Amino acid sequence: MTDAALDTDVLVVGAGPVGMTLALILAAAGRRTLLLDRRSRGAHRDDPRALALAHGARQLLTTLGAWNTDAGTPIHDIHVSQRGGFGRTLIAREEMAVAALGYVMRYRDLAAALDARLPADSLLDRAELAALRIDADAATATIRRDDAERTIRARLVVHAEGTPADGADVTLRDYRQHAVLAEVRPGAAHGHRAWERFTPDGPLALLPLGDDYSVVFTVPPEKADALMAMDDAAFLTALQAQFGPRVAFAATSPRARYPLALRLRRQLAAPREAWIGNAAQTLHPVSGQGFNLGLRDAWELAEVLLADPTGDPGDAVRLERYARGRRLDRGGGAAFTDGIVRAFSNDFPPLRIARGLGLLALDLCPPARRFVAGRMIWGARGW
Ligand SMILES: Cc1cc2nc3c(=O)[nH]c(=O)nc-3n(C[C@H](O)[C@H](O)[C@H](O)COP(=O)(O)OP(=O)(O)OC[C@H]3O[C@@H](n4cnc5c(N)ncnc54)[C@H](O)[C@@H]3O)c2cc1C
Repeated sequence: MTDAALDTDVLVVGAGPVGMTLALILAAAGRRTLLLDRRSRGAHRDDPRALALAHGARQLLTTLGAWNTDAGTPIHDIHVSQRGGFGRTLIAREEMAVAALGYVMRYRDLAAALDARLPADSLLDRAELAALRIDADAATATIRRDDAERTIRARLVVHAEGTPADGADVTLRDYRQHAVLAEVRPGAAHGHRAWERFTPDGPLALLPLGDDYSVVFTVPPEKADALMAMDDAAFLTALQAQFGPRVAFAATSPRARYPLALRLRRQLAAPREAWIGNAAQTLHPVSGQGFNLGLRDAWELAEVLLADPTGDPGDAVRLERYARGRRLDRGGGAAFTDGIVRAFSNDFPPLRIARGLGLLALDLCPPARRFVAGRMIWGARGW
């Protein structure tokens, strides 16, 4: 088959921030790329999440011209502690010799900045991948749009559809925790400090966002039901009780919730298919690894594909190289977040003491602290 018989070289399914990033990198290098999403263009406006973006993520987004300086709030230090136990540590930007440990940005601002850079006609919205057939020389995707079906032929289909459905090709650990999200006004200026407080219910994170905190309040599902049903005053009281007196809370936005689980796709590559972002791994949000990992998936897949800019992007050897290259970073990210969630989300006294000793050791041992901070800033490797 000649290239002219194909609709595109690379079909990216899912125009979340990770899929858009890949499409932008490939399009900038002249690869024919088509992006599709089942939602209407701009639907990300309703997303309630704020994301902590690593220093490395900022560098990559800046390279793509998709870094929205006004929308990112820098994190100068991170205070880590546990409720009802001793030990705490402070990770500061000076120690890591960076201007900021990371930046907090609303998902919708991040997505809007990427969307604004997409070439005209590169995104087909309200279009859902309904079926996929893989042949030796191309993939044929059946797309459903406005109750009609059409097919798109591509050399490579990249899955960036976000969290995968349960199935044999995905390992699952259900944390039995839900994240309740809100934007909360503190009683005093936050000074660009982020807080990670571990409680037996799950981690509670405060991320500086503009003048407010983006709050990720992790609790078992029944407690999330109760938090969602409260009026604002009762919610602020519950938040204050869980967090303690170090920060006072004055007002809150409406709340949203997400169930939390670890989902890991066993294979990142198959004939003429590759997986990136949450479609490859969906992690617990503690320590803000998910999008940052997804961004590195997009970057590394693009690097592998563009190493031979005119070659077949669906070539099996090439896709296997991508999958191999991601093993360390994604395995490390998953083990890091999973280990933190499981070690900290309980009230078993010996573990509480061990955690306190761990936090104390982190506080007293700069290399260990720098290792943890480095993972949050750059992932398993530098960029
Ligand atoms: C509460 C919470 C807090 C978080 N905090 C952080 C943080 O601080 N830092 C961080 O790095 N990460 C964080 N994350 C993780 C982060 O949100 C995700 O890793 C990131 O959004 C993944 O982006 P994505 O593009 O892979 O997927 P998504 O953002 O899920 O986008 C997937 C897109 O695919 C489309 N789609 C799905 N199925 C189809 C289909 N069949 N056909 C066509 N289109 C389809 C969807 O409409 C959607 O637009 C957090 C997550 C949660 C839940």
